Amino acid sequence: MALEAKGEGPAIGIDLGTTYSCVGVWQHDRVEIIANDQGNRTTPSYVAFTNIGRLIGDAAKNQATINPTNSVFDAKRLIGRKFSDACVKSDMKLWPFKIRGVGDKPMIVINNKNEKKQFAAEEISSMVLNNMREIAEAYLGLTIKNVVITVPAYFNDFQRQATKDAGVIAGMNVMRILNEPTAAAIAYGLDKKATTIGGKNVLIFDLGGGTFDVSLLKIEDEIFEVKATAGDTHLGGEDFDNRMVHHFVQEFEKKHWKDISNDPKALRRLRTSCERAKRTLSSTAETTIEIDSLFEGIDFHSKITRAKFEELNMDLFRKCMETVENCVRDAKIDREIVDDIVLVGGSTRIPKVQQLLQDLFNGKELCKSINPDEAVAYGAAVQAAVLRGGVEKVQDLLLLDVTPLSLGRMLHTGEFDVFIPRNTTIPTKKIKMATTIVQNQIGLIVDVYEGEETRAEKNKSLGQFVLEGIPPGPKGKPQITICFEIDANGTLIVSAEEKRLHLKKKVTISNYRGGLSEVEIEKMIKEAEKYKLEGQEYNEKVKAKSALETEEHRL
Ligand code: ADP
Ligand code: MG
Repeated sequence: MALEAKGEGPAIGIDLGTTYSCVGVWQHDRVEIIANDQGNRTTPSYVAFTNIGRLIGDAAKNQATINPTNSVFDAKRLIGRKFSDACVKSDMKLWPFKIRGVGDKPMIVINNKNEKKQFAAEEISSMVLNNMREIAEAYLGLTIKNVVITVPAYFNDFQRQATKDAGVIAGMNVMRILNEPTAAAIAYGLDKKATTIGGKNVLIFDLGGGTFDVSLLKIEDEIFEVKATAGDTHLGGEDFDNRMVHHFVQEFEKKHWKDISNDPKALRRLRTSCERAKRTLSSTAETTIEIDSLFEGIDFHSKITRAKFEELNMDLFRKCMETVENCVRDAKIDREIVDDIVLVGGSTRIPKVQQLLQDLFNGKELCKSINPDEAVAYGAAVQAAVLRGGVEKVQDLLLLDVTPLSLGRMLHTGEFDVFIPRNTTIPTKKIKMATTIVQNQIGLIVDVYEGEETRAEKNKSLGQFVLEGIPPGPKGKPQITICFEIDANGTLIVSAEEKRLHLKKKVTISNYRGGLSEVEIEKMIKEAEKYKLEGQEYNEKVKAKSALETEEHRL
């Protein structure tokens, strides 16, 4: 992939965030973070379907309160997940837009005057990605095809593959799927280069809108070696917002004897106010919420203190700290020899989070020298330049990343046989031998799981396949090689082979189950192209109108 990309136009790095996305490009010997047409360096990961066409980014977010059911956000919380996933079930209750299970795939249902449609999370993400690319194209005045897209380090195989598919649907050449904390470490590493002597142990603490990642790296010269990573793909600022929304829903009920929790518009407005209040509480001790005519004409005016906000979220903050402890333990590094703790992600502005983290490291000063909103895109842009080649300043940069979860297969006893333990450096390849266990066994099932439990069924099943065609005979004779392989993107490929019998089966696990098929992707690419053309026509008209609506709404 990297070679193909060489010589073809510039390559960009996109931080595809749950709540905000950011794009960067390597230019004139440094990274340029590119502002959108509103002058903002980060863009909301929002897509809205309106009577006048599709809106993406700021324009989509700005009209979300007046068009809640057709304004889609949080696609990253859905991507690569099944409809039956417990996280999907609980998120659905809070989203104003509708989700339907088709098979076991969650689909976002859009129902506005001009269209009744459903979209996979990959499609919504592809629209956000395309928008980020257009921001870069407008700035550079060039067509861009090659991208590096970042994902949380703790994303599993399905979530990575689905993110890559989103890029493909947007017509991009996805050169690499890069872990977000590793990308942030690059930004830190380049910034600190002059002062690095003899290597540093650096902890990246990335708490964003929807995901949380911790990575411990050793950075020495141009080598970035991830020692361990831990995290939660479902924890971030939006969960803190949810706690506050819940708090005020209860307060409203107490005060007015009315339940607003089934009114999407009221909830949307309350959520917007809560998010703003949360941000304010990062710099003040108390703030107010004032929403006129929130529900059935009733105005809602209330107060919240920083202490109350902290109390509402303390268990979540503590969970973050436990994750840090686990990561440090896994890296087998003493807490005392962590040289720097780097804050990334908007939610690291919360004073309590900073304080707990600092306490964990005996009062050590936290590193705030890199921009928490832009560091990930910055690192992605550097990696894009490295893969494209020909950039002298960073060409020796070497990333050694790890796989976040143990991978293996279920044995006939039900035990989990680990092939690749968590925190193994990738790319990697592990081989084990297997054979038949009963007489006349004509196939061998390879049942792939990920997780840390010793019983396979307690872990997450990633899928299974069968090596068929073994001739009936005594047990224990076939010599079957089972191979688990992870490429540089973190994609898992499993194969089973019996050389003597000329039997072989090789499966990219994420393609095999749960993901989109080639045919589906083809169809989505065509749809996306159609939308892109329509979008260009609407663009100017829409921008003018949405600016008006935003104004009206503010009044
Ligand atoms: P993601 O990468 O997941 O999209 P970001 O790193 O962009 O997330 O962070 C967005 C989150 O940070 C949002 O939940 C936002 O409310 C939160 N956030 C931004 N600024 C502040 C602040 N000053 N105080 C608390 N939270 C903040
Ligand atoms: Mg982020």
